[in-house]
Amino acid sequence: MARPKIENDLPKAKINAYSLKKAWQLFSYGKNHRWKFYIGLLFLLLTSGTALAFPKLIGLLVDCAKNKDLVQANYLSLMLVGILILQSVFSFFRLSLFINFTENTLANIRLALYSNLIKLPMTFFSQKRVGELNSRLSSDIAQIQDTLTTTIAEFLRQFILIIGGVVFLAVISIKLTLMMLSIVPLVAVAAVIFGRFIRKYSKKTQDTIAESQVIVEETLQGISNVKAFANEWYEIARYSAKIKEIVKIAIKGGQYRGYFASFIILCLFGSIVAVVWFGVTLIISGDMKDVGQLISFVLYSIFVGASFGGIAELYAQIQKAIGATERVFELLDEQPENINSIQKQQTQKLKGEVEFKNVAFSYPSRKEIQVLDNVSFSAGFGQKVALVGPSGAGKSTISSLLLRFYDIDSGEILIDGKNIFDYELEDLRGNMSIVPQDVILFGGSIRENIAYGKPDATEEEIFLAAKQANALNFINGFPEKFETLVGERGIKLSGGQRQRIAIARALLKNPAILILDEATSSLDSESEKLVQEALEILMEGRTSIIIAHRLSTIRKADKILVLDKGTIIEEGTHNELLEIENGLYKNLSSLQFSNS
Ligand code: ATP
Repeated sequence: MARPKIENDLPKAKINAYSLKKAWQLFSYGKNHRWKFYIGLLFLLLTSGTALAFPKLIGLLVDCAKNKDLVQANYLSLMLVGILILQSVFSFFRLSLFINFTENTLANIRLALYSNLIKLPMTFFSQKRVGELNSRLSSDIAQIQDTLTTTIAEFLRQFILIIGGVVFLAVISIKLTLMMLSIVPLVAVAAVIFGRFIRKYSKKTQDTIAESQVIVEETLQGISNVKAFANEWYEIARYSAKIKEIVKIAIKGGQYRGYFASFIILCLFGSIVAVVWFGVTLIISGDMKDVGQLISFVLYSIFVGASFGGIAELYAQIQKAIGATERVFELLDEQPENINSIQKQQTQKLKGEVEFKNVAFSYPSRKEIQVLDNVSFSAGFGQKVALVGPSGAGKSTISSLLLRFYDIDSGEILIDGKNIFDYELEDLRGNMSIVPQDVILFGGSIRENIAYGKPDATEEEIFLAAKQANALNFINGFPEKFETLVGERGIKLSGGQRQRIAIARALLKNPAILILDEATSSLDSESEKLVQEALEILMEGRTSIIIAHRLSTIRKADKILVLDKGTIIEEGTHNELLEIENGLYKNLSSLQFSNS
């Protein structure tokens, strides 16, 4: 199998009427491609049917040797070749039809999943780990893919071969059939169980190898830390211990594989010997006609035995696929945010007056902790309002609430006098921009990253935004200028450069409300000056909420809110706040001043 590791990791689901019904929904995503699956099934029946004729004809052919009947032998051989040709044609169509159906169905499921996932509220993402979600999704989809293309088909084929094979066997000799059925399926199933055990063991080896790779990855990525602490020997010891563990597990696994090989040779081939021996005694006693029949019998027995062995494994695969389907549907059933299904052309333009009235909030994942308590403040059109306070006071939470990432517990948040929950989400967020602390650029060109704020922006607009954001100089410094690739596979920009791209993005969007999350890691003074200048331009003519870490940058703010443990404890301009004896702002301010 192409992806054994993924499949091994997936849990199995119980197969019952409910889960089957749920899994059946999968087919609705096949839409107008479903006919391909049905025709594929028909080809599958035909392939299995023709496969059953094979042992019978081989038996008859062998008998021609005894009867010295060359004409009959030629005729039978031609028939066999005919059957092989038919089988290859049927198999080709079956497989290509199944793959065609599966890929189209998967594309529809992937799109439906992604469209739903990206519209889910922040509450969902704050409770789930995104990386885990992502890998879960890809392994679930891979399992469904394997099942639709091969597992179901194989399962049906094996099933037909078992039923058909036993019927043909019984026609040849009931006695021999009973004898065969008492050994071969048992051995086959035992082989499967044994095989599964071995695979579990090899997974254990793989997991330990993965753990050792984590050590390599972590230490190489953090190589400067390792060196700075002169911890090379410590890491070598850690890695060496893991490697010894791998060897131990792998050798043990190797032993089991050895047992398995001996078991197969002894039992599986032994059971064939037993069947042939019993068949020969039947021929001698006259209960069976001749050697041709015995050969057909042995071939049918091999079919049945192999199918018994295969079907147990396939059943487990189907269980996993049903589990995977259930998880995929769970995600599809999650309630998305109320975002229009068609892209909105024009958002309502807002003025940008912000007001928080007695807002109380706790995160859905940690209901018991009150993050904001009775927060009230207002920011008039064009004002700059700064939020300051110790780490964890709730500053970023206020910006998340303004963006309506979460429902609030009580109170009201108003924009232009209207409750934010009465706005359409696109109108609300369409009028806001955030310049975050740590700007994440998407893989693509600088142009695309700036245009993220307004996908239909013209060349001039992008150029102007970059210029106003003080980004033009460094962009023009790259040989490919605006086409320079950034992000994971592109060039790495400095913190200050990334901030200026984010500012250009925000300028393009031209929002009524701007949220600035000031970078904590201080930029060098040249870069800071450029960013600060760009920010001043960006803040002009709109309401700005500034989450400030360095008090020096907010001296000119119209209003500073000092937040502590979720409540606003001081409010005023820089000078007013400095007047408060023993005030938190005054304290923070003198701390920062003495540090700098
Ligand atoms: P900093 O200056 O360090 O960025 P902050 O003032 O912006 O801090 P917030 O990020 O608003 O503080 O966090 C306020 C409180 O809410 C903290 O106690 C934090 O642990 C908690 N918190 C933040 N985000 C979440 C979340 N997604 N789920 C649960 N709790 C959260």
